[in-house]
Amino acid sequence: MLALALLGSTGSIGRSTVEVVRHHPERLRVATLAAFGSDLDALEAQARELRPELVAVHDRERARELARRLPGLEIAGGAEGVTAAATHPSVGRVVAAMVGAAGLAPAYAALDAGKDVALANKEALVVAGPVLTQLARERGARIVPIDSEHVALHQALRCGAASEVRRLVLTASGGPFRERELESWDRITPREALAHPTWSMGRKISIDSATLMNKGLELIEARHLFGVPPEAIDVVVHPQSQVHSLVEYADGSWIAQLSVNDMVFAVQYALSFPERWANDFPRLDPGTMGSLDFEPLDEGRFRSVGLARRAAAAGGSAPAVLNAANEIAVHAFLEERLRFPQIVDTVEAVLDSHRVTPVASLEDALDWDAWGRRRAGELMAGGR
Ligand code: NAD
Ligand code: MG
Repeated sequence: MLALALLGSTGSIGRSTVEVVRHHPERLRVATLAAFGSDLDALEAQARELRPELVAVHDRERARELARRLPGLEIAGGAEGVTAAATHPSVGRVVAAMVGAAGLAPAYAALDAGKDVALANKEALVVAGPVLTQLARERGARIVPIDSEHVALHQALRCGAASEVRRLVLTASGGPFRERELESWDRITPREALAHPTWSMGRKISIDSATLMNKGLELIEARHLFGVPPEAIDVVVHPQSQVHSLVEYADGSWIAQLSVNDMVFAVQYALSFPERWANDFPRLDPGTMGSLDFEPLDEGRFRSVGLARRAAAAGGSAPAVLNAANEIAVHAFLEERLRFPQIVDTVEAVLDSHRVTPVASLEDALDWDAWGRRRAGELMAGGR
């Protein structure tokens, strides 16, 4: 029986993980839950159903409220509580499904404690990729992706040796604005940007998918997960979101992975690896799948991927700063303090004003995250 820490349990990936746990009661149980606390009713319902040993609530007031509702259950508050959930002695694998750089410290603590991490929280790897991958090596812990493109690559990469790989190709749906005229991008509302054509996801990643910054973050994520240089990672637009990514080998063979576009498949892979478990989730049927389209990404329209490539090539503090600026800009857009095209403009301006510095530790990465947030705030306020 594999005991899980589920960090970000009330979110989109958190709920998909609970669905996978329900499908495999003989294999999986939830030992600890952690969430921010904004959706306390959902967290309470999860705690009643899953009976974990510990529930962590980032917001301390909400933590006290949950303790009143669930007497007899151990409840921990604050960031320390979330770290306690990630490192709890009975946990065998940590599902890192918090959103944003806030997920970095608990993911670090989990690896430091030698726990395997099933990672949805791509921002953690973007902010501190080399630090996390080195720590995992030192502690003998594994990082297995949950992000669907990376789950596809992880599977396709099992078909050959690393030296035989020519390039990785990430598929992108293109998001809701793939065909919308650029002239009207100034008028894009949060509601329009949140309406993703093929995936149902949390708010932040939905906006990242509309700007395609999500694909830029995934490029950096793939680089660290698979040790492939950014020049050997490409992006192709595939509007049906059924081919989740592809690997090209030296001999000209392509290996792709397909499934229904539901994150339960990716979550289950990250929990079952190196095994495969039977399930009865809805299946793809090649006979009725219809056509699959592929087209090049228009990098003039979607400048985010080029910015991420630039940050990946620069290395050091650049990806942390890119991510921080993006988080601040996305938040401002959702609050209608920034127009849609200004999200990527802000990220670019912050990167332009940044001098790349080596990152050697978690503290360095967190310092540059804080710097990027401050700088984005200044630039959005009209500062220089
Ligand atoms: P979401 O907004 O739906 O959920 C986020 C979860 O994190 C919530 O449970 C929230 O309470 C919790 N959380 C936020 N801040 C926290 C804090 N400081 N302490 C403890 N908990 C906190 O987000 P999501 O769509 O589930 O995405 C989660 C992560 O997975 C993101 O990094 C995203 O990029 C990645 N991801 C998501 C999908 C998807 O389909 N949703 C696909 C691939 C990757
Ligand atoms: Mg993805």
